Amino acid sequence: VPGAQGFAPLGENWVLGAVPQGERDRLLARMERVRIEPKQIAYDVEQPIQHVYFPLSGMFSILAIADPRRVIEVAVVGNEGVVGVPVFLGAADTPGRAVCQIPADALRMPADAFRDEVQSAGPLHGAVRRYAQALFDQTAQTAICNSTHAIEERCARWLLMTHDRVGADTFVATQETLARMLGVQRSTVNGAAGKLQDAGLVGYARGRITIRDRAGLEAASCGCYRIIHRALARLLG
Ligand SMILES: [Zn+2]
Repeated sequence: VPGAQGFAPLGENWVLGAVPQGERDRLLARMERVRIEPKQIAYDVEQPIQHVYFPLSGMFSILAIADPRRVIEVAVVGNEGVVGVPVFLGAADTPGRAVCQIPADALRMPADAFRDEVQSAGPLHGAVRRYAQALFDQTAQTAICNSTHAIEERCARWLLMTHDRVGADTFVATQETLARMLGVQRSTVNGAAGKLQDAGLVGYARGRITIRDRAGLEAASCGCYRIIHRALARLLG
């Protein structure tokens, strides 16, 4: 059974890994290592972005918000990326929210320092630029996925993307999390999650999800998982 397909080893970050050692050491001196818990907000709706996060593990969700009760995940970020691309692109804030989904270790840099570092076209600038394109691709594909594909397929996609980023077969997430991220009713997700469990692809226990059959889950997902993964692989490869 093929395993999770992360882009950087757990405990490392792809973007920082793309920067030469000497330059990376200089950047690390401007960062602090932090532990981020689920529901902790990295940046919020139209609030000045204070820090940029380079995850080393775990996963963040980028959320779009229609109104306080209707929120949907438009992208996920793990140790392949950066939480704070709007800062790179010159925005001080966004209409969306970035929130921790799966407990994460991350290196964080004050937004001002990051702005300063990416002003010149050095290696950090190049790596973040490539990642930003992959993030746009992911966001676009997630939009069409959410409006086109069946909930079972979307559940499978989410589980695969999460599996790739957490680097473990079991992770802390509930069906309620899944429902919230996919923007559907809890009962809708329960039915889909139940089908995946009955097929032996995943298991649920005590607020944890276990991936039991990765290949089966890939077969159960819509093509969006592969499209997003290929876009990342092309840009980060
Ligand atoms: Zn899809």
